[in-house]
Amino acid sequence: RVKSKWAQTRPKFPSTTIALQNFDTTYSMQLGNLWPSVRVAMLSEQKYGALINNFSLTASIITSGLEAEGCIDFIGSHQHSKDSMSLHEDSAEVDVSKPAAHDPRINPDIKCLVFPKGDLSRFKPSRPDSSGLLGYYLLDAASVLPVLALDVQLGHTVLDLCAAPGGKTLALLQTHTVSYLWANDLSGSRTARLRKTLQSYLPREYLEENKIQISSFDGCKLGPTEEKRFDRVLVDVPCTTDRHSVMVEDNNMFNRSRTKERKSLPLLQIQLLMAGIQTARPGGDIVYSTCSLSQLQNECVVQQAIHQAQEVGISVQVQDLGWLTQCFSNTFYFAPQLSVGELVLPHLCANFGPIYMCKLRRSN
Ligand code: SAM
Repeated sequence: RVKSKWAQTRPKFPSTTIALQNFDTTYSMQLGNLWPSVRVAMLSEQKYGALINNFSLTASIITSGLEAEGCIDFIGSHQHSKDSMSLHEDSAEVDVSKPAAHDPRINPDIKCLVFPKGDLSRFKPSRPDSSGLLGYYLLDAASVLPVLALDVQLGHTVLDLCAAPGGKTLALLQTHTVSYLWANDLSGSRTARLRKTLQSYLPREYLEENKIQISSFDGCKLGPTEEKRFDRVLVDVPCTTDRHSVMVEDNNMFNRSRTKERKSLPLLQIQLLMAGIQTARPGGDIVYSTCSLSQLQNECVVQQAIHQAQEVGISVQVQDLGWLTQCFSNTFYFAPQLSVGELVLPHLCANFGPIYMCKLRRSN
């Protein structure tokens, strides 16, 4: 017999609690004694970065204004950061004043300003210039790293497979190097948001030049069917969005109704990465990224995709991103020694991430 009163008042666990319990189990094993501090950081207010929109007429005034408030362009300033202490005690010896020998020249046109370590000031919302374009886009500063890792060069064609709401697309376009960009996202409503973002940040003429294509396809299906081959492919997949999952009830992956969807994420991620590999040209680069700490969604996905690619006769090699972590170890706290890729760990002194990224090069 169902006791309806009891059924109605039975305590329900919020999705955020379920997420935290799940992470306590998996991440304490994965991260060992780093987990308690990462956990505290993820439960604290996240820090943002202001990606400067150099299409705005007021970009340099806005940059100077933010610098006057104490902000630092973490990308441009890495060459002058010799005097500041690295977040890693054991890497204080590393001279980050010089880019590493194989540093593929970090694009100087991507500028992302952050408040210094320990400074918890918030950015004001960006305001439009006289032509209506917004001066900066607020995002997790660590999410610019996959774009830097992609290393887009002049004339490149780029596919952004899961692009909405468009933070990374916007960062890519700041380089002024892309000859053609295809920004795709499965979700129609999110693709509409992406379009709106681009309209708020890019001059209309630029959007009308046929340089940018926006679409709403299932990225998994693009791989085998698409005939175009791209110099660079960004595969920024849907994941458990760990920080959101422990903080926000709305649209939470750990809601019981989404258990099946959550458990099938690694499968979807492998399919999307495979599609990314298939659409890259031989010699082209693919960057896979998530905002999760999960080994299952990060390293395991990459390893499985490399294996599956081999089975269909495509050879891909993992590219070393040590130069990137060396350059930015003053700004981000990177996880020590992963089997493949790099991971920004949330840290109370630098509360960015989590962001995982791995770069692959297709050789045939
Ligand atoms: N790159 C975006 C940015 O920087 O703003 C964030 C992308 S978000 C992490 C992942 C995106 O993947 C979501 O917008 C989601 O709609 C999209 N997505 C989910 N399944 C997909 C699929 N099968 N094909 C393409 N996009 C998909």
